[in-house]
Amino acid sequence: MSSMLIKNARNIITMDDRRSRVPGGSIYIEGPEIKAVGADLSHVVADVVIDARGKVVIPGMVNGHHHLNQVLTKNVPLAQDKGLFDWLTTLYQVWQHLQPGDLHAGATAGLGELLKTGCTTAADHFYAFPRESRNLLDEEIQAAAELGMRFHPTRGSMSRGKSKGGLPPDELTQSEDEILADTRRAIETHHRPERFSMVRVGVAPCSPFSVTTELMKEAAVLARSYGVRLHTHLAETIDEQDFCREMYGMRPLEYMESTGWIGPDVWYAHGIHFSDDEVRRIGAAHAGVCHCPVSNMKLSSGTCRVPDLLKAGAAVGLGVDGSASADSSNMLFEARVGYLLHKHAHGPTAVTAEDMLWLATRGGAAVLGRDDIGSIEVGKAADLVLVDVNQVGYAGALHDDVGMLMMTGSTQVVDTVIVNGVVVVQEGRLTRVDEEKVVRQANAASARLVEAAGVATGRDFVGRV
Ligand SMILES: [Zn+2]
Repeated sequence: MSSMLIKNARNIITMDDRRSRVPGGSIYIEGPEIKAVGADLSHVVADVVIDARGKVVIPGMVNGHHHLNQVLTKNVPLAQDKGLFDWLTTLYQVWQHLQPGDLHAGATAGLGELLKTGCTTAADHFYAFPRESRNLLDEEIQAAAELGMRFHPTRGSMSRGKSKGGLPPDELTQSEDEILADTRRAIETHHRPERFSMVRVGVAPCSPFSVTTELMKEAAVLARSYGVRLHTHLAETIDEQDFCREMYGMRPLEYMESTGWIGPDVWYAHGIHFSDDEVRRIGAAHAGVCHCPVSNMKLSSGTCRVPDLLKAGAAVGLGVDGSASADSSNMLFEARVGYLLHKHAHGPTAVTAEDMLWLATRGGAAVLGRDDIGSIEVGKAADLVLVDVNQVGYAGALHDDVGMLMMTGSTQVVDTVIVNGVVVVQEGRLTRVDEEKVVRQANAASARLVEAAGVATGRDFVGRV
């Protein structure tokens, strides 16, 4: 088994329970696992030695919510200045033209950007399956494997199209039977439950306004029969709340409770519009919420009650959400925006820089149900990010290493990324793929997709209207 020693780090930010830091520290790794963390490991011999002088080491961040297909529809002018429902109905028209190969191209670019900004584990929620599409989830699983990233794909779905009172066009929906069969296939083919697993599959009907009640209930039963996690969008906007009242006669969380969608194996994306009692119920159930501040601000969705949810006992992680609403896949940027947002919304002591790094590491691990990632400790996976502090944007900011990462706004700063003991970013470049080719393929897929939507609808998606 190969071994690695990272020595003489300026600082190791462990994010263990005591949030301890080890200035001048070293980390010894065997295979995928951290075997020692300490101030003096100079006697240790290893196959690979990385001199981390001048570099801060943090645990690899964990992205709890994403839609990698949306990398191909970032910054589409026709969708730029809309709230969630209008934004979705605009982009549904583009996503329904996804072809084989597109998701691989988008996922490679999106996951590559995440790796380069310090994220080593990503969840994805892919739900936009065009009719007749086959095995699309496999494309993003393949992309993550090629990059060397730890991945939690969730098999999303939409079964309530316009003809059944839902928001999406019928062309982007599938039958319950088809969805459940492909979800079973994805779990049986790809899910690996073991410690240090690189792929865990989840079950993720899209939202209350795009999925039938029957599918919600059956998906929960299916997920629990395999022991995999459940994920969906919830309480993102007031429009969704109004939809649930009209369609089901319930508030969104109440509806989730009525379909079996609450518990420690469930995490919701966004989780904004909860009453005090709902926050208490989520906390008591130890369910998770993935907070996506950039998307919430761009779509004017509202502000997640992160401090209240944490106090109530919920698991809270951080996510970049789809790249079409965040316009990037950048966890350092997401953390900084969250830091600013909660100070703005809840007061100057609502969150610290260290709290935001906690959400991005330990919080993310918690929402994904993992105790083997999220901190630099003996027995944890060797998922590590090294950042060189000798950068113009950090000049004058060396008084606190966590604050420097979270507050200065410099995000293209990562030097080395290690996932499961393997170097996947070196000197800021992805080591296992050709970055120029990744960019070319994503741009080609994006151009074709937007053009196809324009031809089909007669609308100008790239011109200002
Ligand atoms: Zn989302």
